[in-house]
Amino acid sequence: MPYTLSTTITSRPPTTAPSPGPGRERGGWLRFAPVQPLFRARAAGRLAVLAYHGVTDPNSFGAQLDRLHRLATPVSLQAVERAIAEGRPLPPRSVLITFDDADRTVLTHALPALAARRIPAAAFVIAELIGTDLPFWWHEAQFLAAHGGRARALPAYGGPEHLLARLKALPDPDRRRSLHELRVSADRQAPRREQLRPEDLRTLQDAEVAIGNHTLGHPRLSRCDDSTVHTEISAAHLALTRWLGEPPAAFAYPDGGYDARADAALRRLGYRLGFLSDHRLGPRLPEHPLRISRLQVDSTTSTHRFDTILSGLEPAVRRWRGRAVPG
Ligand SMILES: [Zn+2]
Repeated sequence: MPYTLSTTITSRPPTTAPSPGPGRERGGWLRFAPVQPLFRARAAGRLAVLAYHGVTDPNSFGAQLDRLHRLATPVSLQAVERAIAEGRPLPPRSVLITFDDADRTVLTHALPALAARRIPAAAFVIAELIGTDLPFWWHEAQFLAAHGGRARALPAYGGPEHLLARLKALPDPDRRRSLHELRVSADRQAPRREQLRPEDLRTLQDAEVAIGNHTLGHPRLSRCDDSTVHTEISAAHLALTRWLGEPPAAFAYPDGGYDARADAALRRLGYRLGFLSDHRLGPRLPEHPLRISRLQVDSTTSTHRFDTILSGLEPAVRRWRGRAVPG
């Protein structure tokens, strides 16, 4: 597959970079790449917004935070907002930590680790799940399909990743119908999952984890009609405003993909910040406040790989190799 080179990459590591061998940590070898110091130096002048989901490994997450404390300048969502409003770039090596979907581990694992180091963050929540014990729809679909569930729009079950790719690609009404068909045809229903409650959102917000909008039900917006895009954003906005006592200022695109109709809705509602999941560094003064780049990381990411992601080297190599960025 031909590599795709991002137009935002201004320098290129050598094309002779070795491939990771089988069994070696993905991207771990990059820390030895001669260009890593160059990338690290260049990254000092960029804004790194880290996109986590939950925190499954609190110890590893703590080690990542310690690293950020030593090597970077953790900043808050409000600091990013202020920099944009004042037209003044953030400090060198600025890093903003964000969490998408915000399962309970953000409260139970991430918050203590962040608070102990006084590192701020932001969490983007799926409004219709707050205060429920409903599973994430993608987990539910995988469980149902593995327990005999079938849907007309989903031909032969080709493995969990294949199933999700198919579901996400469907027009949203077909995705919803398929979920319903999976529910009524499966042998068992998916396990319940305790989600954050409205009071947890306030606890997070009071502890410098700002709460942002991640839509009502986490559809892929590009597969939704205009009125659904509007409802997904505005209904979540109303609910969050009620729970938090103030309107959220930031939005993260479900599945990370930009949508112009969403952009218009966000502007109308007064959003100041919007985040993608494009696995890139961005400028320290974001040019497009509603399209801020983020880097994909995980609490289990090793320190070595974490460093190469933070420097922008791992994302650049990944794009060269034409590999999909995790959503
Ligand atoms: Zn999400």
